[in-house]
Amino acid sequence: MTASATAPVACQSTSTSPLRQRGQHEVFCGLTSVIWLHRKIQDAFFLIVGSRTCAHLMQSAAGVMIFAEPRFGTAIIEERDLAGVADMHDELDREVERLLARRPDIKMLVLVGSCPSEVIKFDLARAAERLNTVYAPRRRVLSYSGSGIETTFTQGEDNFLAALVGRLPASAPDAKPSLLVVGSLADVVEDQFDRIFAALGIEDVAFLPSRRSEDLPAVGPNTVFLLAQPFLNEAATVLKKRGARQITAPFPLGEEGTTAWLKVAADAFDIEAARFDAITAPGRDRARKAIAHYRERLKGHRVFLFPDSQMEPSLARFLHREAGAEIIEVGTPYLHRQHTAPEFDLLPNSITVSEGQDVDRQIDRCKAADPDLIVCGMGLANPFEAEGRATKWSIEFVFSPIQGYEQAGDLAELFARPLTRRAALAVEA
Ligand code: SF4
Repeated sequence: MTASATAPVACQSTSTSPLRQRGQHEVFCGLTSVIWLHRKIQDAFFLIVGSRTCAHLMQSAAGVMIFAEPRFGTAIIEERDLAGVADMHDELDREVERLLARRPDIKMLVLVGSCPSEVIKFDLARAAERLNTVYAPRRRVLSYSGSGIETTFTQGEDNFLAALVGRLPASAPDAKPSLLVVGSLADVVEDQFDRIFAALGIEDVAFLPSRRSEDLPAVGPNTVFLLAQPFLNEAATVLKKRGARQITAPFPLGEEGTTAWLKVAADAFDIEAARFDAITAPGRDRARKAIAHYRERLKGHRVFLFPDSQMEPSLARFLHREAGAEIIEVGTPYLHRQHTAPEFDLLPNSITVSEGQDVDRQIDRCKAADPDLIVCGMGLANPFEAEGRATKWSIEFVFSPIQGYEQAGDLAELFARPLTRRAALAVEA
């Protein structure tokens, strides 16, 4: 692929001017989202409509469930001409019928589109609508695209949640104000936040996606929603179209991010400052102590973040503000200004911000800067490691429970571990 020109453009949310890059990029496709979504929603099945390549990616990335029935699979579409598309609908119907007859535990079937040309010809949304009329209300069928042409890996979850929001019931006009937390969180993190919201006195709180697909919160003008992940642009847009009101804050990473995130929810529900401080003080204290343990390892180290998960601005803010690291460049596949403005407000303007990717140029910039730690995708990490550089896989921040007070130390440790390993290797050499 030809490298594109890299032109600085004005960033409206901060005085920082990001590099906008439109060259070759190295990021997983949106199918990867199935790995964490199928674990989160315990009665859903994700049926990828794709090629053998898609099946191999999923098998190697997600592994095989040995002790439980799988909750994802791939319907392999072989090459065929347009005249064969009608047969594909029949084949898919038969596959779905066989699957649902064998698996009464499946309450939500999600068809996931991919990028082979045979699948692009196929109208998956229409297929989902048709199957939904057959199986609803006992089972829901919906679809989203995880195609590598359209999506980077966290956009898979965004597309899924946008589709799910379309199925949420409308709240009653006189419904009490409710809080909707949007974005997959590990169950342990969700439980912690649920307890804090309850202690604060916010009564009506729901998480999307929920663990059971039947738990669909009502949404409408009385809904206040708070993103738990920065990559949910489509889902936020669809929620706003349903009348819900978005509140924004730094994302709940580290003590500072978690406090700011909880505070914006507390303010939206008129929780008194004294009560907020009393409820959050023990968690804040534990988080600060846990981070301090790793701060010595991270302080003053120079970090370069390649664009991958869209969590990079939040990770950079945590690294800089709470772990004392110096950020050289923070890359993100997309810069959603409204969602990331609170993060950039806490970062110095001097750091380089890049949107999109032009991978060769970015590698050159990274090598010239010679950072102590590189946060990047798996494909880039191995060559960097072979050169003796310390790296951290971005995907680990999506798979690991890192949000909230109790996980703040684990988050710091994820960054500190490669530096510790590299230091140990240097001593042995
Ligand atoms: S969706 Fe496209 S990029 Fe993703 S595994 Fe399938 S063929 Fe590859």
